[in-house]
Amino acid sequence: MRKISANYVFPGNSSPIKNGVIIFDKEGTIHDFLNPEIDEINFEKVEIFEGIICPGFINTHCHLELSYLKGKIAEGTELPGFVKDIISLRNNFSDEERFNAMTLAEQEMINNGIVAVGDISNGDSTFDHKEKSKISYHTFIEVFGSDPKIANAAFKHSESVYNSYFNKKRASITPHATYSVSDNLVKLINTHAIKNNSLISIHNQETASENSFFREGKGAMFDFLDIANKTDNQFIPTGKNALPSFLGKYTNLNKTLLVHNTFTEKEDIAWAQKYADNIYWCFCPNANEYIEKRQPNYSLFKNEKCTIGTDSLASNSGLSILDEIKTISKKDSSITLETLLKWATFNGAQYLGFDKLGSIEKGKQPGLNLISGLDGTTLVANSSIKRII
Ligand SMILES: [Zn+2]
Repeated sequence: MRKISANYVFPGNSSPIKNGVIIFDKEGTIHDFLNPEIDEINFEKVEIFEGIICPGFINTHCHLELSYLKGKIAEGTELPGFVKDIISLRNNFSDEERFNAMTLAEQEMINNGIVAVGDISNGDSTFDHKEKSKISYHTFIEVFGSDPKIANAAFKHSESVYNSYFNKKRASITPHATYSVSDNLVKLINTHAIKNNSLISIHNQETASENSFFREGKGAMFDFLDIANKTDNQFIPTGKNALPSFLGKYTNLNKTLLVHNTFTEKEDIAWAQKYADNIYWCFCPNANEYIEKRQPNYSLFKNEKCTIGTDSLASNSGLSILDEIKTISKKDSSITLETLLKWATFNGAQYLGFDKLGSIEKGKQPGLNLISGLDGTTLVANSSIKRII
């Protein structure tokens, strides 16, 4: 049995405990979590660390299969330019290059204290890897197709990828984004999701032209995807933002993660609150800076269930949840470290349904991270992470 302590322990789902002591076994199962203000503790056998301890991080949005695109795409292109660059580059790499990039990316996540990942996959290239991994994965098999005529073929392809996954309980078929899925495809995804009680994850309001796409049937994304032609000029603008226009087409969805939310407005959040009580909001601030040079208005989300993602190495220089929460903390210092760590641990585990992860509590195996180099309990540029278990 090992006993450890630090200046503060942030349990993930409750207030930090000054000099809290965690007792855990070889497997990392928590046997006790003690508070010196209440419990009698003999500190002689306790390993004491400088900094704070928190549970292992949950990365709720990544695309492991895109790791080979690290450093290949220019910054600040905005989303339509970014997608165009991916399409033009994606066939230029060998299987070996892709495999090696994926292996390095995963090791980077492990070193950065990430214990579980919600990972987007278009194909099966990551599946063998995930089956053997020490990271817990939920894989979202992403389907897109804004042309209604290809809905059946697109869905069939994603279904065959889904059927090849080693653990169906940890996989879902999910729509790519609000703007890239035709109504016909929405119906197929919805039926599959309800039947399998699937988690849903959608790229949401990542770029400004996503809202004008639905509001007015125009803008950079509408033109880039040639929606007028694909729908034989039958696209009907809703006069509403992307989120209510798109998500309103679904019924009875299970837990849903909305990823990015850079251009989400107060009215969208109010709409989501009425629409369902199982909506989670994922932020990937470093990817937003990379692609759009802009971040969400975090203060709008203080009462929402938020999570953190790294997105892929195509739009990020690293896969570190600590780096993501540093960026949020710099942009909006009113969001406390306790809140940021809840987003980065407990909320992510709750959304993905990993019951043993996300908080330091008796009987759980959350993994333990040490964050050091803070200014009191504030993250600074040099704050660093080390995995304890
Ligand atoms: Zn993404």
